[in-house]
Amino acid sequence: MRLRSLVLALCLLPCIDASGLASTTPAEHAADVYATREMAAAPLNGNLPDYSLPPAQLAQARHLASLRLRLHFGAEAWAILQLILLLALGVIAWMRDTAVRLTRHRWLQAYIFLLLFLLARALLNLPLSLYGHHLGLHYGLSIQPWPSWFADFGKGLILEWLIGGLLLLLLFALIRRTPGRWWLVFWIAAVPIVLTGLYLSPILVDPLFDHFEPLALHHPDLAAQLEHMGVPASRQFLMKASAKVTTPNAYVTGLANSKRIVVWDTSLAPGQSPSPEVLWMVGHECGHYVLRHVLKGTLLTLAGLLPLLYLCYRFLTWAIRRFGARWRIPSPADWGALAIILLAASILSAMSEPVSNTISRQIEHHADIYGEEAIHGLVTAPQLAVKNACDSDGLRALDDPNPSPWVEFWIYNHPSTGRRAAFGSAYNPWAPGMKPKYFKK
Ligand SMILES: [Zn+2]
Repeated sequence: MRLRSLVLALCLLPCIDASGLASTTPAEHAADVYATREMAAAPLNGNLPDYSLPPAQLAQARHLASLRLRLHFGAEAWAILQLILLLALGVIAWMRDTAVRLTRHRWLQAYIFLLLFLLARALLNLPLSLYGHHLGLHYGLSIQPWPSWFADFGKGLILEWLIGGLLLLLLFALIRRTPGRWWLVFWIAAVPIVLTGLYLSPILVDPLFDHFEPLALHHPDLAAQLEHMGVPASRQFLMKASAKVTTPNAYVTGLANSKRIVVWDTSLAPGQSPSPEVLWMVGHECGHYVLRHVLKGTLLTLAGLLPLLYLCYRFLTWAIRRFGARWRIPSPADWGALAIILLAASILSAMSEPVSNTISRQIEHHADIYGEEAIHGLVTAPQLAVKNACDSDGLRALDDPNPSPWVEFWIYNHPSTGRRAAFGSAYNPWAPGMKPKYFKK
């Protein structure tokens, strides 16, 4: 019973705003109300007063939004269905038989089984992945040539195999040794593994896919502004995104001394001092950096992982009792049980998507506020900078101005561009009687 209470408590944890920024200031509340009213008054998928697209681009954005919606739910449903098919058709049992027949060494069996499994999933997912890249090329959002795209696809698969093999060995060693508690022990082991992965990923993994250079080397003015906002120059990087995409972006990644801000070169004009729009974009990233959003988001994800693992354990026990004979997977310690655990994880992550996206939108909203307050005094009109940034970035990315509220709630991990523009246009913590949320002085 004690374990069940612990799991229940951790299930509820992600519902709490653990980003530590829960209190809403009066200025923030007023701008939130303004944005919600503006969106409710505008036509669905139509232009807003604070973010609008020209007619041709609006039609493209609508078409793209509807395709992306179908692709999103199609991919989720297909991920679940393909696992059921692989299990029911005996393909998973065949992979297990092949691995066990080829070698007696458990670690080799794990890597052979995982290789067969990942190749099967990659092939089954390939049509949707190809279509996704085709869409990006068709709408001019991506310029990545197909050979380069396939190289990234292959590198991703190899990484998944190498790292996934170690995790698989650990998981099944725990399932064999602690059959009733493996979900808890694996979660305890996952905490340092995930934090190590977060630390190493910008150093070892990201450079396999993209080229990075110090930001100050190419944009000294912007680097100085970022330093002024609290990010040391050694933690600022420029990514050569222009080799693959046309859309602007920036992000924060890493942990401890690998923590950094990365700005895509597609966001910046060479040789020019940063515009108010660029300053707001990097101010938003400074918000993530200073408010430790990456670490907080990772800890929240880890908190959500415990109930997820517990439910996977319960599902695995049930599925083997009910379908084990038919699927030829007789015990939870069988390599084939991996497919059942992943089936449970796919169903649960699809169901919990609105919860994780709501937390993500909240964090992004706070970074927007931080960015707008950070540029106060650096630009003449922060509200206009936010509106213009949303206008130009939204146009380049063909963002739907006014998605349906349930679509935004379910699948958006950032507030929609229209909501960000409306909020930013109305946010005025410097008005009489109001106070900034983060920059009190
Ligand atoms: Zn962000």
